[in-house]
Amino acid sequence: MIGEFDLIKKYFSGHDKGKNVELGIGDDCALMSFGRDESLAITTDTQNEGIHFFKGTDPYLLGYKSLLVNLSDLAAMGAQPRAFTLSLTLPDSNEEFLTKYARGLFELAKGEHVALIGGNTTKGPLSFTISAYGILRWGALERSNAKVGDGIYVTGTLGLPGLYVEAGYGRIPLDKSVLSSLCYKSMHIECRCAFARDLAERELSSCAIDISDGLVGDLMHILKLSGVGADLQLDKLPLPQELYDYVADPVERYKLAAWGGGDYELLFTVPSDLEEDAQEYFEECGDQVTRIGTITDSGQLRVMFNDKIFAPAMKSFEHF
Ligand code: ADP
Ligand code: MG
Repeated sequence: MIGEFDLIKKYFSGHDKGKNVELGIGDDCALMSFGRDESLAITTDTQNEGIHFFKGTDPYLLGYKSLLVNLSDLAAMGAQPRAFTLSLTLPDSNEEFLTKYARGLFELAKGEHVALIGGNTTKGPLSFTISAYGILRWGALERSNAKVGDGIYVTGTLGLPGLYVEAGYGRIPLDKSVLSSLCYKSMHIECRCAFARDLAERELSSCAIDISDGLVGDLMHILKLSGVGADLQLDKLPLPQELYDYVADPVERYKLAAWGGGDYELLFTVPSDLEEDAQEYFEECGDQVTRIGTITDSGQLRVMFNDKIFAPAMKSFEHF
């Protein structure tokens, strides 16, 4: 069966050239420009019950996360979020559900000053599709801009959503109360828009992606589009305390962080001559940022663990 990315390439790419289209398919957002000194960043993402979240998940968290994943794509371009549309597919019009969903949605929307400007409402299996729009008055953080010698950085910690999914399917046995705390933390994710916008505006980076399918798979998108390789130091990945508490095997911890996915953290590169300035910005802004590797001219990704090559046969998430 054809994979997710081959499917997009074979059937839907190649039709993205047109008036005002600055950047088409292939990055976290498309870009359009209308003559002024700014671009419009556009993205869309769906969350389906049974695929992106477990049946019975707190609707408040669904509201928050359905917008967060879209704002995360705007962050991955360095865009300032402005507005979104909401397409809701609901099995019924349960008002308790809707009250909680709206509370989570608008908590994030208000915090990020984004307006809900339209949408669509239909009956069917529970699913949320949001399209989000942001502006760029500075250079975009494009997947194709990594250069040999750049440092590779990531915000926050990695692996907690991966742990939650494993535990949710019962593959890692955890108490109900632990599971519900993991659920909250893996869905109520910090928005990286302000951090990314400042990074782009200060010209400290021109290359980023958000981690949705797993660090390794998403880094591969950067490497392919930039025509470069990388050394990734697995042992440097920032892990949340929960991975130490609930995963005994250290290698398993790093596997969840590198291949687990659903982190919605920002993965970006910084040219070597800007790394000192970038470090100052990281300290000033207060967001946790970790250097996890280097862009190389090897043409491939080398995953290292304590300076040795680490090569388990693992694949990042794809829908098909
Ligand atoms: P992200 O994880 O950042 O949301 P995806 O991996 O979902 O990005 O998609 C990769 C690229 O393919 C994006 O540029 C996206 O807009 C594009 N894309 C995905 N599905 C389709 C589709 N059905 N038609 C056209 N473009 C698509
Ligand atoms: Mg993305």
